[in-house]
Amino acid sequence: MLYHSTRSSQKKVSSKEAILQGLCPDGGLYVSDDIFNAGLDMKSLMELDYEQIVYEVFHALLDDYSADELKDCISKAYRGKFETEDLTPVSQIGDRYLLELYHGPTAAFKDMALCMLPQLMSKALKDEKVMILTATSGDTGKAALAGFRDAENIGITVFFPDGGVSDIQYLQMATAEGSNVNVAAVKGNFDDCQTGVKQIFARCSDTIRKDRRISLSSANSINVGRLVPQIVYYIEAYKQLMKRGAVSYGDKVDFIVPTGNFGDILAGFYAKALGLPAGRLVVASNENNVLTDFFTTGVYNKKRPFVKTISPSMDILVSSNLERMLYYAADGDCSYVAGLMKDLAEKGSFEVTDAVMEKLDETFDAAYADNEESKRAIRKAWEKDGRLIDPHTAVGYRVAELMEEDRKEAGEAKVPTVILSTASPFKFAKDVYEAIFGPLHENADGFDYMAALAEKTGESIPKPLAELKAKPVLHKSVLEIGEMEQFVIDSLKVLG
Ligand SMILES: *Cc1c(COP(=O)(O)O)cnc(C)c1O
Repeated sequence: MLYHSTRSSQKKVSSKEAILQGLCPDGGLYVSDDIFNAGLDMKSLMELDYEQIVYEVFHALLDDYSADELKDCISKAYRGKFETEDLTPVSQIGDRYLLELYHGPTAAFKDMALCMLPQLMSKALKDEKVMILTATSGDTGKAALAGFRDAENIGITVFFPDGGVSDIQYLQMATAEGSNVNVAAVKGNFDDCQTGVKQIFARCSDTIRKDRRISLSSANSINVGRLVPQIVYYIEAYKQLMKRGAVSYGDKVDFIVPTGNFGDILAGFYAKALGLPAGRLVVASNENNVLTDFFTTGVYNKKRPFVKTISPSMDILVSSNLERMLYYAADGDCSYVAGLMKDLAEKGSFEVTDAVMEKLDETFDAAYADNEESKRAIRKAWEKDGRLIDPHTAVGYRVAELMEEDRKEAGEAKVPTVILSTASPFKFAKDVYEAIFGPLHENADGFDYMAALAEKTGESIPKPLAELKAKPVLHKSVLEIGEMEQFVIDSLKVLG
């Protein structure tokens, strides 16, 4: 399967090349035209275990990896790193389902992809070295730092918004160990970090490759190597619903996806393209509801206030992966997509055609929940359903309610609904605790809130979070946006 840019189909590359590069040289994202005829027998995947499904999906989409390479990647990615027996258990929440994606090493769904990406990348490397540049709204950073820690010939540099992540997320990154890791806070928001990284790619890639023989790459969800592992848990979720007797093969299942950069939900679209009998894919946003507006009106407008919410990993106004979806919705018209992205860069907005909107409507719904609704959802999930959920999942919970009301009004039948649960509630202990029980004492820190939450609910703190308390802060840099480039140049020294 070959990949090319969303903005031009001239140059086609293998999946290994796409994974090594992350972003296309022209600023577009790698896509393949073959996902709709990948030849997977979806029904037969329902008989397989998680790792076997990974193998089949990868074999179809990343077909320049040999069988042995894939098996090696798979055996190293997940084993021994998860707290639960099923990597991604499906459980009940009221009369809906939760797909629990947070039982990995950093307690957020990013682990599902970032345990795997370093494996895929090291198999793609020949004799070069790579520096991974990552902008994070909180969860990607730590998951990438954990995944790439001490990887051979690969370094990693992470930028996060200063003051824009939770206490626990901050500590997860600031205490990150490893001989090849660099971490800095940036005085700006996530979009500033992401734009800064994109600019460094554009300005410095060629020189660094020439002078230092190091390639720059990305662990952000724009990387094909992040996207593809995320397809698997949609299939796994469906399989588990079949096992529970909740559906028979072919029945529709709706997926509600707390969305920021549009990576997670795009993987759902890929799963559907590969044949999964998914129903609606629902884009659930927080107050930064640029996607809700887009899916309602066809106008994407990033010129709006950036709101800091209690679901910081979704505080995003430029959803990078939407570009891939636009490519597919525009039937592969690269110059059309390039035009939209030019409008976005120059005017801060773009508008799609009615034909594109119709295509998107076939698959997606969109709605959002504000902070107050998210907090109410956290409390309701606990008091009514006995389930502790994090603020990102809470956005999904509220949006699920809204969707059901819509369906009821339209006289449509109820469909089994899976809410993707993207982080452990303990990662956002303060907001979760306060939403249910009110404030703790004045000087309480993230650890006090974790302890109090565990005590009041009887749920246990994930080990990787409990262990943070004893770890020293190793990374203290706080940068102006203009200092990011020099930080990257300096950080290359970890590669020798
Ligand atoms: C990253 C993240 C999201 C959003 O996922 P996207 O792929 O960026 O849409 C939602 N919830 C949590 C907890 C996350 O870390």
